[in-house]
Amino acid sequence: MARTASEVKVECLCGALIDLSQVPMPGEHFFFPTADWDEVIRRLGAAFMASEKEEHRRLKARISDTLAGAGDAFFPCPGCQRLIVPVEDGYEFYRRDEGPAGR
Ligand SMILES: [Zn+2]
Repeated sequence: MARTASEVKVECLCGALIDLSQVPMPGEHFFFPTADWDEVIRRLGAAFMASEKEEHRRLKARISDTLAGAGDAFFPCPGCQRLIVPVEDGYEFYRRDEGPAGR
């Protein structure tokens, strides 16, 4: 999974500066819109079919590129555990719900 140079660091609301050059980030998750599921499967299938004449290494690169182009990743801040979620114009920060019992 690749990140662009402009995304190397993000500052959390708690002040923690998170270095995104660590791949994967501890606790990082990857997601893509469920509505895109069929299209992602179609692209993966196309990558697999195209790989018959390619080396295995190139198939893995195609699958990786397909997934990276289809989704995004969120991760917890190591300082405050807020979930940091990428959006179109930057990041949104979510504090985890402590629930009615305050757990
Ligand atoms: Zn934080």
